[in-house]
Amino acid sequence: MTTADKNPCLRCTMGQDCCNRLRGLKVTRNEFERYFQAHSEKLSITPATQSGAVLVISTNDAKACPNWKDGGCTVYNERPIECRLFPYTTAGIVERRNRIEIGFHRRTNCPLKNELLMPEDDARSLIALFGKRAFGEDKAIVVYHAELKGRRSRWQRAWNRAIGAAKALLSG
Ligand code: SF4
Ligand code: SF4
Repeated sequence: MTTADKNPCLRCTMGQDCCNRLRGLKVTRNEFERYFQAHSEKLSITPATQSGAVLVISTNDAKACPNWKDGGCTVYNERPIECRLFPYTTAGIVERRNRIEIGFHRRTNCPLKNELLMPEDDARSLIALFGKRAFGEDKAIVVYHAELKGRRSRWQRAWNRAIGAAKALLSG
């Protein structure tokens, strides 16, 4: 077996863009302190939710992740949950009192997306773990597929428009 067979990312045709130009990675406070805090001056850091339990980090000037060295991740075996999840990405985190909603999607330019995506149930479990670690064990974590939700609401709007038009036709 060749090295490229073991690590499909060595066949990346995008210059390993996901780590090489870090943009919008979501991390728990603990992950931030462990992997990124020491490099804060190189990063843009914004809270993803009101409480700041999740932070969104990007490198200034779209540079490589500070944990990226010689074409590889130096913390690979213990990398942040969202790195494990990729090419799935979390989206739309909504923080309520006892309930946290976390969306996910698979919209990405990763050229090996279809090969690398984990089973969706595994992705959901990983996101639930991310939610518990970020917001606390006592919170209920609801994981939803943002693409399906978006499609459903578009379908729902189209359906409502059709019903409205039919009603107007019947009443006129
Ligand atoms: S995950 Fe996708 S974008 Fe990132 S290095 Fe691998 S093939 Fe490239
Ligand atoms: S921590 Fe590792 S896997 Fe995650 S973005 Fe940085 S280099 Fe890539």
